[in-house]
Amino acid sequence: MANVGINDGRIVKIGDFKPNSSNIIDAQGLIVSPGFIDMHTHIDRGIVKPEGSNVKNYLTQGVTTVVTGNCGSGTWKVNEYFEKLDTLGIGLNVVHLVGHGTIRKAVMGRDDRDPTQEEMIKMNELMAQGMQEGALGLSSGLFYTPGSFSKTDELIELARTVKEFNGLYATHLRDESNYTIGLIASIEEAIEIGEKSGIPVQISHIKALGTPVWNLSDEVCKLIEDAQERGMIVMADQYPYMASSTSLSAAVIPGWVKEGGKSEERLKDSKLIDQIKKEMSENIIRRGGPESLVIVSYSPNHEFDGLSLAEISSVLKMSAVETAMTLVLEGSPSIISFNMNQDDFAYFMKKDYVMTSSDGSVKHPGIGKPHPRNYGTFPHKIKKYVLEDELISMQHAIRAATSLPAKMIGLNDRGQIKEGYIADIVIFNTKTIDGIASFEDPHQYSKGIAHLLIGGQSVIENDQYNGKLVGKTLKMNEYRK
Ligand SMILES: [Zn+2]
Repeated sequence: MANVGINDGRIVKIGDFKPNSSNIIDAQGLIVSPGFIDMHTHIDRGIVKPEGSNVKNYLTQGVTTVVTGNCGSGTWKVNEYFEKLDTLGIGLNVVHLVGHGTIRKAVMGRDDRDPTQEEMIKMNELMAQGMQEGALGLSSGLFYTPGSFSKTDELIELARTVKEFNGLYATHLRDESNYTIGLIASIEEAIEIGEKSGIPVQISHIKALGTPVWNLSDEVCKLIEDAQERGMIVMADQYPYMASSTSLSAAVIPGWVKEGGKSEERLKDSKLIDQIKKEMSENIIRRGGPESLVIVSYSPNHEFDGLSLAEISSVLKMSAVETAMTLVLEGSPSIISFNMNQDDFAYFMKKDYVMTSSDGSVKHPGIGKPHPRNYGTFPHKIKKYVLEDELISMQHAIRAATSLPAKMIGLNDRGQIKEGYIADIVIFNTKTIDGIASFEDPHQYSKGIAHLLIGGQSVIENDQYNGKLVGKTLKMNEYRK
């Protein structure tokens, strides 16, 4: 128990002193924690819009800093992106990653082949531009097209460029299941990319997806820990829910169908259809069957929102495969997929190198049934896994959301309550903290965040967001100085 003195945006004094200020927050009975840092988000698209720039669904979770550009999707035009955010005004601090998928698509389109020498040079130029303009590193989405069309060497080359700027490599693995090379080989690939280029590796949203790879968490962690013993920095992030969320297309349509952006043509090609259907059927089973794939939002018919593929196929009187194909072609919906196992999930969460992340985006209360992680990640983890299940300690949960990610990012004056540090602070109530968003009723802001300060300025006061936009864009070349 201590007082925390803040002046000019920084923590200046901690201890048992008499506060000499009229501006006092009484935090008696509450926990005063560093603001939460979310290592893995997809808020890029939402935060650049005026109605989304406050990122309220994250502020209400106690989040003060997020990383954008994940899963291979981030822009390399960091100056342009950050200027847009600075002009608009943003609710929280933003760190950014350049996406491999984005630069590959810009240089090579959706081609399924290796880059030519000139194309590789061009990709490295875009990568270097992103780093020069302040990116933290490179993200990849090797499961998605066009990332899936690239071989390991291409990533190593780009990672070598990142090394020149001391950045890191964050990866959505090539395979979190047994779609192609399998979970274990994918972890090995991620480590190889980091090891050969000499940069830290972050395994994004770590999980064992689908029954064929259940109970492999110890093998996955052994590979990570062996690499750490060899001197590498390898960490992971995890969202605290046992269901994942992605597009229906990514989950069930084979990657080769999307080559060259010709998926619609191929899905309607009578010569290919049998093979596509066979693979789709396997992919649906891998994901736990049609009952465990739930539609988030289907724009042609919102009555399907929140229904499973099995339920929709009985409404449409079509097979699960044909239903999935129809939905992809007509509405390209996102899904929630229940595909993880409790033991793996808990095994990962207890590791001291696994950080908390949401994998979410900007959401506004309204249509669709998005994953509750968008609204509830950080409070839900504390309420469910610290206070209720006692799977991890409060200290473990707070560290995974604060000093651990700060260290990974290299934010040398954030992520701790420490004299001289920037006053990004969340004050929460253990009696009321709750990520109440559920799979059935996801559009609910979290509870229990009593106060939130970003750079010493109050944004949540007595559980209410005051509408202020005090977040900053954080360029690596500036904050690592
Ligand atoms: Zn991802």
